[in-house]
Amino acid sequence: MKDWRRTHYSGEITPEMEGSEVVVAGWIHEVRDLGGVAFVVLRDREGKAQITIPKKKVPEELAEKMTSLVRESVVMVRGNIQKDERAPGNFELIPNDMKILSESKTPLPMDVSGKVNAELDTRLNSRYMDLRKPEINAIFKIRSVALTEVRNYLESQGYIEITTPKMVATATEGGTDLFPISYFEKEAFLNQSPQLFKQIMMASGLDKVYEIGPIFRAEEHDTNRHLNESISIDIESAFSDHNDVMKLLEEMIHHVTKNVEERCQSELRALEHNLIVPETPFERIKYEEAIDIAGDHGVEVVWGDDIPTAGEKAVGEEIGTYYYIVDWPSEIKPFYALPEPENQELSRAFDLMHPRFELSSGAQRVHKIKLLEKRMLNQDLDPEDFEFYLNAFRYGMPPHAGWGVGAERLLMALTGKKNIREVTLFPRDRNRLTP
Ligand code: ATP
Ligand code: MG
Repeated sequence: MKDWRRTHYSGEITPEMEGSEVVVAGWIHEVRDLGGVAFVVLRDREGKAQITIPKKKVPEELAEKMTSLVRESVVMVRGNIQKDERAPGNFELIPNDMKILSESKTPLPMDVSGKVNAELDTRLNSRYMDLRKPEINAIFKIRSVALTEVRNYLESQGYIEITTPKMVATATEGGTDLFPISYFEKEAFLNQSPQLFKQIMMASGLDKVYEIGPIFRAEEHDTNRHLNESISIDIESAFSDHNDVMKLLEEMIHHVTKNVEERCQSELRALEHNLIVPETPFERIKYEEAIDIAGDHGVEVVWGDDIPTAGEKAVGEEIGTYYYIVDWPSEIKPFYALPEPENQELSRAFDLMHPRFELSSGAQRVHKIKLLEKRMLNQDLDPEDFEFYLNAFRYGMPPHAGWGVGAERLLMALTGKKNIREVTLFPRDRNRLTP
């Protein structure tokens, strides 16, 4: 009895291995029976393997079984490697044996051969099948590398990974965009941001923390860059100001992009995406300059208003790469963003922009409790609701700063995808709660 265990992914087989026997496993991509010879293409995570069946050399029963395979069935094939320049990877397998592990039903819910383009909704409904396409699973291979490199970079800079609660009693910013949940006899919410917790950690002595975790926002609007459940990459650093964490952020973007560019060449090729590693430091433009540029493009923004999407796009097109917007009006930034000590109208908050969207928001934070309470009241928040947070500021809280980056938006930047749902396995949006 021979052992039925995969010995190689298709991508690991080279023509130099001619003569040796291997076991491959995967999905039936294609069956072509030309009479005297038949071809079966098997697809696995690393590529494709052509199995060639010369009818005279392969036992009749096996040839029969292989040529009647239903597309997308899962099989294991034992075969001998033979050089062939016409086949994918320059090799083919002459089968000795085959085992059907799972037969596919027909018709398929969508085409995976790349011949027919399905609507995004159809694809997301059958995500498991959509992901069988190399240009789709490439996105999630890149995601894995990108998040690993985020961790590598932050760890190399002395950051400690934490996880904070997702079920909470109070809103981070008092907004209404929260999902309520029932928590025994109380009302609770799904957290919209780890902001308050990571700031509390600044009073813990751990100094530099990061979290990669879900955030939930009950935003009603349906855009190509918002989800209702998203993954946020958050950091907070004690004894640091806004400039320190802006430097960290641009260096991290540079590091992640460079490593994805180096480590994910075949995935980027599958996506037909030419990834450009951005140079650092990124340009810093003032809020005032940004609204001027927007104005030049016909998008009028009054000082003190948020920059609308059209304005962001106009500035993004003009600059063409990552840039920071700094010197925001204090009144439109959250209560925890520190006003410039010399000019309280302006804030030590910043946004990191990708030409097509906001990638990150951050700030040096208010660390003095009096000012924090005052800013809460100014924004109609009741400090009493935030006692658990404010307590951390009463017994020794160092100055600190931090930011949050949307992981999906980072992935949009790395893959060139224009719709955030493309880079999310199972997106949660206004219309989508399953799968
Ligand atoms: P936007 O203005 O684009 O709606 P925001 O300013 O409301 O974003 P922040 O609260 O600043 O978002 O959150 C920090 C980062 O988290 C954003 O820059 C973005 O990358 C990401 N993010 C925020 N909300 C969402 C969302 N609904 N879906 C996906 N990513 C999000
Ligand atoms: Mg923001």
